[in-house]
Amino acid sequence: MNSFLDTPLNFVKGIGPARAELLSSELRMRTVVDLLQHYPFRYVDRSKVLSISQLQETNDFVQVKGVLGKLIEEGTGRNRRLKSSLRDDSGVMEFIWFKGLKWIKESLKPGKQYIAFGKIGAYKGRPSMPHPELELATDSTVHKGYLQPIYSSTEKLTKRGMSSKGFEKAIKNVLANPDFDWPETLSKEIKSELKLVSKMQAIKLIHLARNDHDIKHARRRLKFEELFFIQLELLLKKDLHAKQVRGFVFESVGEYFNDFYKNYLPFELTGAQKRVLKEIRRDLGSGRQMNRLLQGDVGSGKTMVSALAALIAVDNDFQALVMAPTEILANQHFETFTEMLEPVGLRVELLTGSTKTAKRRDIHEGLISGAVHLIVGTHALLEDKVQFKNLGLSVIDEQHRFGVAQRAKLWKKNTQPPHVLVMTATPIPRTLAMTLYGDLDVSVIDELPPGRKPVDTSHVFDSARIKIFGFMEDQIRRGRQVYVVYPLIEESSALDLKDLMDGYESIERRFPKPDYQISVVHGRMKPQDKDFEMNRFADGKTQIMVATTVIEVGVNVPNASVMVIESAQRFGLSQLHQLRGRVGRGAEKSYCILVSDKKLSNEARKRMKTMTETNDGFRISEVDLELRGPGDLMGTRQSGDLDLNLANLATDGKILAYARNCAMDLLDEDPSLQMEKNANILRRAKQIIFNKPNWSRIS
Ligand code: ADP
Ligand code: MG
Repeated sequence: MNSFLDTPLNFVKGIGPARAELLSSELRMRTVVDLLQHYPFRYVDRSKVLSISQLQETNDFVQVKGVLGKLIEEGTGRNRRLKSSLRDDSGVMEFIWFKGLKWIKESLKPGKQYIAFGKIGAYKGRPSMPHPELELATDSTVHKGYLQPIYSSTEKLTKRGMSSKGFEKAIKNVLANPDFDWPETLSKEIKSELKLVSKMQAIKLIHLARNDHDIKHARRRLKFEELFFIQLELLLKKDLHAKQVRGFVFESVGEYFNDFYKNYLPFELTGAQKRVLKEIRRDLGSGRQMNRLLQGDVGSGKTMVSALAALIAVDNDFQALVMAPTEILANQHFETFTEMLEPVGLRVELLTGSTKTAKRRDIHEGLISGAVHLIVGTHALLEDKVQFKNLGLSVIDEQHRFGVAQRAKLWKKNTQPPHVLVMTATPIPRTLAMTLYGDLDVSVIDELPPGRKPVDTSHVFDSARIKIFGFMEDQIRRGRQVYVVYPLIEESSALDLKDLMDGYESIERRFPKPDYQISVVHGRMKPQDKDFEMNRFADGKTQIMVATTVIEVGVNVPNASVMVIESAQRFGLSQLHQLRGRVGRGAEKSYCILVSDKKLSNEARKRMKTMTETNDGFRISEVDLELRGPGDLMGTRQSGDLDLNLANLATDGKILAYARNCAMDLLDEDPSLQMEKNANILRRAKQIIFNKPNWSRIS
């Protein structure tokens, strides 16, 4: 970075030491670079003056012009406030101040023409503007003809004069300095190919925009740059990883695989399963360690893909491991894998926290001798005691429950890290996957097995309870089973437990013993009790399962055909989709009923609407991304990894795709950024990529 951009903020005109201190503590801004990267989040056209009758409660910044009314003080003590009004030809609006009353009273002149600028709110049904910015109106005040940039600030900073206006002034001072210069960070080639303005121009345009055209060009360039360097970093990491970490080579598809495929495959693979299997096989034979994320909606058939991969491992004299986040899931996987793979001669075992000591010893021995081909289990598999003869493949199901540290433990189970296949039913929109997992390879099963009927989803209000019970009764009479799910925000929330128990009681009154049996599962129960109840339901001994979201992950009860979700407005979209995935697993038509309050926020309404409109997990995840933003979406990575200043993954998918393609082309041609024409990019990469402490130690 050149010296001017590195200037500490206390030397900047209009800032000084005290504010510099505050900028550092409040916004972590220390130098001119930081200041200039504090981009306006919006602009207000100061050449536009609205008439008061046009104003709406939009909460937006507006400018109005009129005669200032009398100043009236009201209240006492902390409730003291100052009111006034502004009148133009079309109407009257209110001003109100809560702070700085004395100074305001002294400086304003009622009866004069003012230009007022501020946010509009409503006060007792009339438009009102709290703490307006007021200027005596002269012709030039109105015809300023510029877009006023609006900067975010904090309360403390605003008090010390660094309001949006304060930022504007300080930034203008910096930009006007003859020493101001910002070295280009992209190559000429990329700039001209994508018609991007220079870095210097972009910085000027974003702060000094005169029109929409300026804003568009500035933002496009800056967003591109942001995403480009993220992609470059991910691709470089992936490349380095491939060089540093060798992978076992699974050369051949052998007896086990072929026998299973020809004689035991219970169904034809879907096109998507075949494609993904090919991708996996290519990895396994490449000599690189596979790190692949397999995304596929609930019920898309990920398990079969992982079983086939395990067969390839065994064919090459390696062992395989399948790890699930809960004991119930591990049990189910164990049953599935045993049923599938024992017929071809594989020994499959289960290891969880509740495996008995003698059995455990037996399994440990089997793993070390190589007699056990496939081990299914929970995180109990991570314990150091669990050693293998030759572990070659680790499959991790429902990965969001596992951290990076746990993945690292798996790597140490052999002399070379085993191949890793991570399976998740939480679909991530492509844009996000590209950014979050740019260093992993991503496979997608985007096709459900044939004959799957979409779950019929409806949204009703609490008042429809009697009808819901009637519907449940009808389904139970046909031999089906029903889930009723309550939200659980915290494991220990007493209120949530009360909701659930109240619900349980009213269900029990309507569905009395001995005709009906009901299971209850909630977060305060012991794990064994939870499992006991889950198993009773899975075995068809109970017809209704009343539960908090503990059933969210993975459980398979094909006979369950109704999912009632209580207080559905309190669930996020991906959670709702996961819950809905618990039904629709059998041959019968299934239903999901979302029960909510009448009063819904716009966002909650959109969630309900999305759920009733589509069963497509990817579509749902896109809406989720729009509604919540990327930071919230995945528990797998810290949102801090996504240090985006300007770009927005929900809306900038196209720029992201450009950025990724550009980065790939660049590295294809110039893998270590040594070409003269890429000097700018190398310089920037040294500043923001290669200087990171963990750069050469890739996890
Ligand atoms: P998930 O991706 O949610 O883990 P599963 O692997 O549990 O899904 O598969 C869901 C169900 O679909 C299982 O009962 C499985 O046997 C079945 N299934 C998987 N692939 C196919 C296929 N190609 N054709 C028919 N049924 C399939
Ligand atoms: Mg599964």
